Amino acid sequence: MSTSSQFAAPRTLDEATALLARHGTAARVVAGATDLMVQVRIVGAYPERYVDIKQIPEVNVIDLRADHLQLGAAVSCAALSEREDVRAAFPGLVEAAELIGSTQIQSRATLGGNLCNASPAADTVPALMALDAQAVIAGPGGTRTVKVTDVPAGPGATSLADGEIVVAFRIPVPPARSADAYQRFIPRTEMDIAVVGVGVSVTVDASGACTAARVALGAVAPTAFVAEEAGAALVGTDLDDAALAEAGRRASEAARPISDRRGTAEFRRDVTAVLTRRTAAAARDRALART
Ligand SMILES: Cc1cc2nc3c(=O)[nH]c(=O)nc-3n(C[C@H](O)[C@H](O)[C@H](O)COP(=O)(O)OP(=O)(O)OC[C@H]3O[C@@H](n4cnc5c(N)ncnc54)[C@H](O)[C@@H]3O)c2cc1C
Repeated sequence: MSTSSQFAAPRTLDEATALLARHGTAARVVAGATDLMVQVRIVGAYPERYVDIKQIPEVNVIDLRADHLQLGAAVSCAALSEREDVRAAFPGLVEAAELIGSTQIQSRATLGGNLCNASPAADTVPALMALDAQAVIAGPGGTRTVKVTDVPAGPGATSLADGEIVVAFRIPVPPARSADAYQRFIPRTEMDIAVVGVGVSVTVDASGACTAARVALGAVAPTAFVAEEAGAALVGTDLDDAALAEAGRRASEAARPISDRRGTAEFRRDVTAVLTRRTAAAARDRALART
């Protein structure tokens, strides 16, 4: 980072939001800096002030309670991976975090940074959306809670106001016999960004019938989003091949991909259908294993 930029590491949310409010767009929040450092170097737009949030207790919490997981926005992917109780409750979220970059990147990269960087291909964002996660946001005006689906506003843009910080995610613990899964397609075997990413959560009843389902898609629209129609195709079924294929077809229809050097729009639509089917099958198998 530039030596001409000022660096602050406040220990409270109030200090951090006050600093951000004072410096406006000249300040940047720093978490793991795995996106920020690359962007600052490439663009050469050094902020006046870096505000490192990692010393603030609320952003480092991993608190799994009976009804929800409170997950600090600056918890690293590696720290999340180490929590076996969280992996057992939310295997899809943890597998998304474990796909980010390499071991080195995961030791720095945070879920808050993944969301706020606002890449349409961010891996943990569809996983959070599939779980109906909320984001707790602090700003100069106080704290508010919104659905994660409301945070991304377009490639590189969020709905956060100047001076606001994502403090934590509040992720509801689903009912018994529920499970989530995340899968992505990349042209290489690792260290690449998603051409398509799919997060699915399902709940089944004692007979194996699906009572609730959410399908979230990444990298096939300006932001990750929940494909409501695809989830609806699963509810009321036994999550058999026909139901999974129909969910895949509807997810593909809901996708609005672009063509670029990583794949054509048509290819992305095809992959969306296949990955939705596979990810829903993975979530189903996990949920059934809990019956
Ligand atoms: C080699 C490499 C491989 C990568 N592979 C992947 C991959 O496979 N999948 C993937 O999804 N990403 C990947 N990334 C991108 C990056 O690692 C992730 O997006 C990571 O989660 C970002 O987290 P961070 O803490 O490093 O964010 P930072 O770089 O610290 O911040 C990113 C942006 O979010 C803002 N910000 C951060 N935290 C907050 C907060 N709590 N509140 C408000 N604003 C905030 C910052 O101001 C900045 O604009 C890769 C990056 C590298 C360098």
